[in-house]
Amino acid sequence: MISAEDAARKPLPTPDADTAAFWRGLQGNKLLLQHCADCGHVQYYQQAICRACGGEDLVHRAASGRGKVYSYSVVHRAPGPAFKGDIPYAVILVELEEGPRMISTFTGGSPDEVTFDLDVVLTFEKVSDEITLPRFKRA
Ligand SMILES: [Zn+2]
Repeated sequence: MISAEDAARKPLPTPDADTAAFWRGLQGNKLLLQHCADCGHVQYYQQAICRACGGEDLVHRAASGRGKVYSYSVVHRAPGPAFKGDIPYAVILVELEEGPRMISTFTGGSPDEVTFDLDVVLTFEKVSDEITLPRFKRA
């Protein structure tokens, strides 16, 4: 069972070999996408190979930071004690200009502002020395 102390803390990502470069990029305020040198596919979820062609020649490039809200949901009931101070907040599925879609949260305004196709821009929230989270605000 999770302790009350742990439940009061937000869980943080744990970088591994496949994602270490991605998290380092975020520390420098860059959202790195993997571009396949073989087929041109762009992927957000960090993997050792291209999901489109299986190629291993993946190159990191920073995303422009521009995107649109593809879908969203406003959270009114906190998933745990650590999130009580955040409600209500909008969990958004952002379609990045480069193509990939990623889950994030809306910041810098009321969740009521969020609509489908809302233009958003990437912003960075440093939550620890190791972890900076990508979030989005209205463009
Ligand atoms: Zn490929």
